[in-house]
Parts: sequence; structure tokens; C-alpha cells
Amino acid sequence: MRDYGKLLTWREEPMSGIIEEPGSSVHYHTGSWRTYRPIWDSEKCIQCFRCWAYCPDASILVEDGKVVGIDYLHCKGCGICAKECPPKAEAIEMVLESEAREKESQAV
Ligand code: SF4
Ligand code: SF4
Repeated sequence: MRDYGKLLTWREEPMSGIIEEPGSSVHYHTGSWRTYRPIWDSEKCIQCFRCWAYCPDASILVEDGKVVGIDYLHCKGCGICAKECPPKAEAIEMVLESEAREKESQAV
């Protein structure tokens, strides 16, 4: 029986299991957790890259040196990008995910 009060070295620790092959945050779609969705407006965006610099999930999409949108598969909807977007731009608006989905379904 293991004595849980005893400190173990790493060699004494029992083997633990990895259920599947090691994962990657690229394949783990955290966007499904989102309550709020950032909506990016290309007309208002001044390409300052503040959203890109502050996004904790690397979810600001950049192509050819320009912000082009948001990776909704990984964006958790924290709202930092909208908060950091300069007041003179206000190019990112946070909307309820449920409302955004409803609008999408009506548009189809
Ligand atoms: S809401 Fe958060 S996770 Fe999503 S793009 Fe903005 S900063 Fe990144
Ligand atoms: S912070 Fe706002 S203005 Fe700056 S790149 Fe991002 S969306 Fe565009």
C-alpha cells in the first residue's frame, strides 16, 4: 500500500498514462467554450496590431502583414482584443455567441 504522506522522487512515482498521443493546442478547438464572440470590422481596422499582440490564444489572423480576421476555432471570447483596440478604431465588437450563431443560421 502506498504511503501518501511520503515524498517520492520522480523515479519512485508510479507510471501515469497518456490516454492518446500527445495533443496540440492547434487541434484543440477551444472556440466552443466561447460566450462572447469578437466581430472584427475590416473597414474600421487601422492595422495597429494591438489585438494580435495581446490575444492570449493567437487567434488574430494575419496574412501578408495584415490583420484579416479572427480564428473562431480557437478564440475563447475573452474580449482582450476589443479592449485593446484603440478608441479611434473600435474595430472589434463583442457580441453574445448565441446571438451571433442565430444571425448566422438566419443568413443561411
Ligand atoms: S476574444 Fe480573446 S481569444 Fe478571442 S481573438 Fe480576442 S483576445 Fe483573442
Ligand atoms: S487592435 Fe483594432 S485597429 Fe488594431 S489591428 Fe486589431 S482590430 Fe485593427
